[in-house]
Amino acid sequence: MIEIKQDAFQQELEANKLVVLDFYSTECPPCEALAPKYEALGKLYGKDVRFIKMFRQENRELAEKFGIRSSPSVLFFKDGQQVGEVLTGGIRRSDIMRNLDALLPGSRVKAIHASVKPKVTDAETIVLGGGPAGLAAAIYLAQAKVNTVVVDPLLPGGQVSTTHQVSNYPGFIEPQPGFMLAHNMAEQAKAAGATLKVAVEVNSVDLVKKEVLIDNHETLRAKKILITTGASPRYLNVEGEKEFYGKGISYCATCDAKYYHDKEVVIIGGGNTAVEESEFISKFASRITMVQQFPYLTANRAAQERALADPKINILFSHEPRGFYRKNEKMVVKVENLDSGETNELFTDGVFVFVGMKPNLEMINEPLDKDQWGYLKVDADMRTSMPGVFAAGDVISKQVRQITTAVGDGTIASITIAKELR
Ligand SMILES: Cc1cc2nc3c(=O)[nH]c(=O)nc-3n(C[C@H](O)[C@H](O)[C@H](O)COP(=O)(O)OP(=O)(O)OC[C@H]3O[C@@H](n4cnc5c(N)ncnc54)[C@H](O)[C@@H]3O)c2cc1C
Repeated sequence: MIEIKQDAFQQELEANKLVVLDFYSTECPPCEALAPKYEALGKLYGKDVRFIKMFRQENRELAEKFGIRSSPSVLFFKDGQQVGEVLTGGIRRSDIMRNLDALLPGSRVKAIHASVKPKVTDAETIVLGGGPAGLAAAIYLAQAKVNTVVVDPLLPGGQVSTTHQVSNYPGFIEPQPGFMLAHNMAEQAKAAGATLKVAVEVNSVDLVKKEVLIDNHETLRAKKILITTGASPRYLNVEGEKEFYGKGISYCATCDAKYYHDKEVVIIGGGNTAVEESEFISKFASRITMVQQFPYLTANRAAQERALADPKINILFSHEPRGFYRKNEKMVVKVENLDSGETNELFTDGVFVFVGMKPNLEMINEPLDKDQWGYLKVDADMRTSMPGVFAAGDVISKQVRQITTAVGDGTIASITIAKELR
């Protein structure tokens, strides 16, 4: 792998059939996460592909020519022509390999993959998930001199990194951009001595052996595993939902209701969460339209009665959302009347979706004790039902899912783990 300046790039393209180029920046956490993977892949594919790095700020002209807007950005070239995807953000080893493999003959791909040497990394604790719970735990564990590895398929920060503004995390007078809070938590964990393996592929988790296979070749082994994989909102899976996630569509009233003071909102759902959160949102919003698929609400009777009596709340029964788009300053919700089949458009300032959450436990195959909604049951010290396996944060069975509570759970788990390891 070599680092070059933009004037040498054309020459490299002419001299090499296959070239991969990484535009990086300094003070760029995803660039730091990519650097060791890029270097290792440079060795693995080095006979067939020229690996080049370029400092983006000093090579702006070329970066702009390729339309590069963020760092890192990885580009692929064959016979002098740009090919494949432009990778950016939390780039995984497998993303680069997939693009390179598509450019090489099958026999070479086979030989390269066969030459990957399995690697074993020993730690005392593996933290599965680099959100607030996992990072708080990593800070405490590392400060207690427990060898700790945090693993995350994405960049660190969890749900916080996609939150626009966080105004209720103590210690900050002004609201903090979520990505900054996430960044600071991750940097604090690193500074304490924790190892972060982020933007990796998590291939398998063995809670009995306390082993985690990442990127198909590295086995992490430990004495304890802490599960902090969080929870994800259930999505409607309709047009525009992904596009406007966090930009007009919210899944958290505690977090975002305050931004709708004297504004109109649409709430999707009619169960307990939707109805109880509508009461909270009603303290801020001037008008709420609830879109419920059934001809009745499914929340508990007392909450239903309060919602039905609230003059700000109007309920569209037997309606389902079919898509979202933006028109000027307004969000538009396309809804279908399930009785008549007619489609209407609701113009609003924001949308809240409350159709349930689910814990991120797809990778866990062992039968841990769970509540009726699938969240992990833990004791007061965050122990799960399996020895040596702990859980903290949104993934556990509890009433309140916030950054502060996730951080608190992570703290308890880490102190218990550190004591048990002594
Ligand atoms: C849009 C939005 C806004 C919010 N705003 C606020 C707010 O203003 N204030 C507040 O207190 N709370 C807010 N919340 C709630 C808060 O973000 C969560 O309660 C908190 O992030 C939970 O932390 P966690 O570490 O338990 O889980 P998460 O933040 O969900 O982090 C879990 C991490 O685990 C990783 N992971 C998933 N699967 C695996 C796997 N198999 N292996 C390894 N890692 C895995 C994920 O990539 C993720 O990084 C908001 C939530 C959302 C969605």
